[in-house]
Amino acid sequence: MPFVNALRCKECLREYPVEPMNVCEFCFGPLEPVYDYEAIRKVISRQSIERGPYTMWRYKDLLPASGENPVDISAGFTPLVKARNLGEELGLTNLYLKNDSVNPSFSFKDRVVSVAATKALEFNFDTLACASTGNLACAVAAHAARAGLRAVVFIPADLEKGKVIGAAIYAPTLVAVDGNYDEVNRLCSEVADRYPWAFVNINMRPFYAEGSKTLGYEAVEQLGWRVPRHAVVPAASGSMFTKIWQGYNEMADMGLVAGPVHTSMHLAQAEGCNPIVDAFESEESVIRPIKPDTVAKSLAIGNPADGIYALRVLRKSGGTACATPEPEVLEGMKLLAQTEGIFTETAGGVTVSGLKQLVQRGIIHRDDLTVAYITGNGLKTQEVAESVVDPLTIAPNLRAFEAALNGANSHNGSNGHN
Ligand SMILES: *Cc1c(COP(=O)(O)O)cnc(C)c1O
Ligand SMILES: [Zn+2]
Repeated sequence: MPFVNALRCKECLREYPVEPMNVCEFCFGPLEPVYDYEAIRKVISRQSIERGPYTMWRYKDLLPASGENPVDISAGFTPLVKARNLGEELGLTNLYLKNDSVNPSFSFKDRVVSVAATKALEFNFDTLACASTGNLACAVAAHAARAGLRAVVFIPADLEKGKVIGAAIYAPTLVAVDGNYDEVNRLCSEVADRYPWAFVNINMRPFYAEGSKTLGYEAVEQLGWRVPRHAVVPAASGSMFTKIWQGYNEMADMGLVAGPVHTSMHLAQAEGCNPIVDAFESEESVIRPIKPDTVAKSLAIGNPADGIYALRVLRKSGGTACATPEPEVLEGMKLLAQTEGIFTETAGGVTVSGLKQLVQRGIIHRDDLTVAYITGNGLKTQEVAESVVDPLTIAPNLRAFEAALNGANSHNGSNGHN
């Protein structure tokens, strides 16, 4: 049994039974699980975690669904890579990358959906659904296939092909909506009112969101039970950003690392969709919704559900929010690939460019222990990177090869570095 007693409104603190619901009936604030931390502290230890499976379910005691029989396609426990080359390029000696691009459906969304799907089975739903910016559709369809649930996924019609195929292969009911994510989400709220389905990011959102805490736990464990000085995290709804922070703090609260936590939480968005950065910079405490226009489609949420909570974490942790200019998104992807051999999607390009900015602005210092979160895989956003393809096209003989090679060298390497 999970160590969760209730759901609680983040605004008015009213409590509700553990049911598939996400907003407070009194003030419309979002709900989140309330854990029995006393009981968890009695059973959890570094050893109990280290004995667990090599997936996110090694932290089952801190998740709101039963870890006995989870819907588990091996999400999580992804590599934490010491980034010596990228670090050298940026002027950092202690940089780590949390490489979540290697999850089963190739993004961190497998973590949140693994929890939501497990909970959907506990609540006896027969259909798993979502409003998606792309990666979520893939993760929902994959987990539904594994769980024997029906999947209905709603996506904006203009998504990258890699995400559409990456969802369709699992045979969900795929609904392409002629509109942006915020419009898809509004439609899905109406659908969720009418159909008894487990919408992972609507009525299941309190459980779903908790899956992102494992991105915090894992980094701490993989750093040898240390909390980083800085974390750099991409944001769409802002949920993952707030939950990584909660994850670090729970590690300290459970006595697994020394507290208090002094991590500065930095948030990265692309300039074409930066409502949270905008609110942070203009010192607002509310988010002004915008209409997204960005190549980073996985981050294209103009009206972020957890935006105000992300702002609170930014301020409380002493973090900074930064916007990546649109042309820098691909530059970030290329820099990561060409220094560390990791091919990330546009969201990762936003993160790497944000990290670079934070160093240039003097916010992250040379020897600071820093974790940058790489949340999705580049094979899903090939469209933006097509310009890197510039082969030496030759006849099948050695002379042609050498002529082409010499030509390329004298042109400073048409397909060399950069
Ligand atoms: C969804 C997504 C995000 C943002 O997650 P939020 O919790 O909505 O802020 C970041 N990176 C990738 C690759 C995503 O798919
Ligand atoms: Zn309330």
